[in-house]
Amino acid sequence: MPIPRRPGPETSAYAVVEEDRIWATELLRKSGLSPTPANQLVLHILRRCPPRHLTVDRLCAVMLTLQEKVPVSTFRSALYQLADAGLVGRVKIERGIPRARHYYELADHPPHFHFFCTQCHALE
Ligand SMILES: [Zn+2]
Repeated sequence: MPIPRRPGPETSAYAVVEEDRIWATELLRKSGLSPTPANQLVLHILRRCPPRHLTVDRLCAVMLTLQEKVPVSTFRSALYQLADAGLVGRVKIERGIPRARHYYELADHPPHFHFFCTQCHALE
């Protein structure tokens, strides 16, 4: 697993990585999915990288900054598979912007409202 750029000091990076690997593996196995590197990276990034709601392009950009990388196509497929399996939430925004966009978040929160800024395209 990669060394996360965020959060926390370098000294705690390794512990955070191990914790994420264990957490992701357990979550994936409970859902009958394989703890592949791509699946683990998706969950790791959604867990660690603010903001909470990220587009696929942003997720890919973050993944490419990590030490452990997978092909972007593999990473995207993993994200869509996790969304289909319900481990990752998908929010579709289509009002107020020319083209619909999807945002992804960990499906670990109770149902909540979303606020979308049509100026900066941030989703809260
Ligand atoms: Zn949300």
